[in-house]
Amino acid sequence: MNHPLFSSLKQKSQTFRFENYKSRQQRLLKVLNWINANQALIVEALKKDFNKPPFETIISEVRPVVSEITYIVKNLKKWMSDQKVKTPSSLLGHSSRIRYENKGVILVISPWNYPFQLAIAPLIAALSAGNTVVIKPSELTPRTSDLIKKLCEDCFMSDEVKVELGGKEKTEELLSYDFDHVFFTGSTQVGRIVAKSCAERLIPLTLELGGKSPTIVDETADLEEAAQKIFWGKFLNRAQTCIAPDYLIVHESIHHELLSKLNKLSSENKKSNKAHIINSKHHERIQKMCSTNEDLNVNPLCIVEIENIKHPLMQEEIFGPALPIIKYKNIQELVKIIPHYEKPLSLYIFSKNKQHIDFVLNSFSSGGAGINSVLLHFANHHLPFGGVGQSGYGKYHGHFGFLEMSHHRAIIQQHYFSFMHQVVMPPYNRNKYKFLKFLKFLS
Ligand code: NAD
Repeated sequence: MNHPLFSSLKQKSQTFRFENYKSRQQRLLKVLNWINANQALIVEALKKDFNKPPFETIISEVRPVVSEITYIVKNLKKWMSDQKVKTPSSLLGHSSRIRYENKGVILVISPWNYPFQLAIAPLIAALSAGNTVVIKPSELTPRTSDLIKKLCEDCFMSDEVKVELGGKEKTEELLSYDFDHVFFTGSTQVGRIVAKSCAERLIPLTLELGGKSPTIVDETADLEEAAQKIFWGKFLNRAQTCIAPDYLIVHESIHHELLSKLNKLSSENKKSNKAHIINSKHHERIQKMCSTNEDLNVNPLCIVEIENIKHPLMQEEIFGPALPIIKYKNIQELVKIIPHYEKPLSLYIFSKNKQHIDFVLNSFSSGGAGINSVLLHFANHHLPFGGVGQSGYGKYHGHFGFLEMSHHRAIIQQHYFSFMHQVVMPPYNRNKYKFLKFLKFLS
């Protein structure tokens, strides 16, 4: 099934194949200039959608996108150039190279939790690779989604970038088109639906999903620093962050001290301006997990000490301001807890003990990891960002996003006499078999 608008995006993506890096840079700079000129509107939209504090909007929605565009624009010419690779001596007379060509039309489906950044960063990656794009932002953050539509209408023709608003039905309709790549950010449940739909027509897919990201604090950690970083990692965006520490596993000897530091930070920040839980459905879901009736938009963090992983907070990704804490005696006990869950999007360890750090990194896989650090691997565009196993597949940010949205085309070219060609041509006479023997290809 194909819509006229979709066909025009397809056609345009074909013309983009003849462009040089300057045209792509110009498209990216249009987005950058729009963002710089309209920062106040972005801040206002997020404030209205879920009371996101302007400070958080700047550091977590605007700046990452601005720095990503700047970095890509600077490097695009180099990334777009054909990459020469070696050619084996058996293929003497040839040269080989990889050409990074556009895929065509990319569908970006984005979630509500970082509604601006998680729609625009994949857009930038798709544009850097010379594609045309359709964005389907989240229906749960309508002001930001409207603003994304305005950004795209101000910067692009409708056959270059198109924003389609709506929820589940709109996504289902879009998934019936023959996109050349789908880039989905959201929950594992919906990710599965999108993956099924793409599989039917063999449409390549990037899945940026979630999971339960563990945070380990051992007996050697700097507790003041650990408490502050863990608290910040949860507090940001009202703990509605895919890579937020989901649960803590803490050595029993420092458990009380860490707990009291976290509780102190929580009570000190009661009056801080904070984002809200996105809607009443999610608010009730988290209240139920914590067995509480209190308003979770007031208290910064609901810290819950738990005995084992049967607790309701340990059944699914929390994605809200609740923090379960489990104690351990011996580092080997982590093997009974962490692998109980699917491979998470992130894993964090606070420790000064190199053996403990190595043990944790070697024992448990995760999309990304932080050592004495939370969330910040996301902010470095020299690192790939993405999941592993059930937390997703495919990577983006910086060069990784360009590579994800490009087709890596293998090209071999003959320049002068090719001996190999003479060898492989029939008829396969005795001399040719002798030659294979000479090469030790035949025993
Ligand atoms: P979601 O899966 O509910 O929605 C994501 C998108 O899918 C939205 O645009 C929505 O309209 C659409 N959608 C919803 N139901 C659908 C259906 N049945 N069929 C087709 N499309 C449908 O996710 P969310 O609640 O917006 O976001 C929260 C989740 O996203 C969390 O699990 C979080 O961990 C994950 N997440 C991952 C990343 C990452 O980078 N890996 C980033 C942010 C959020």
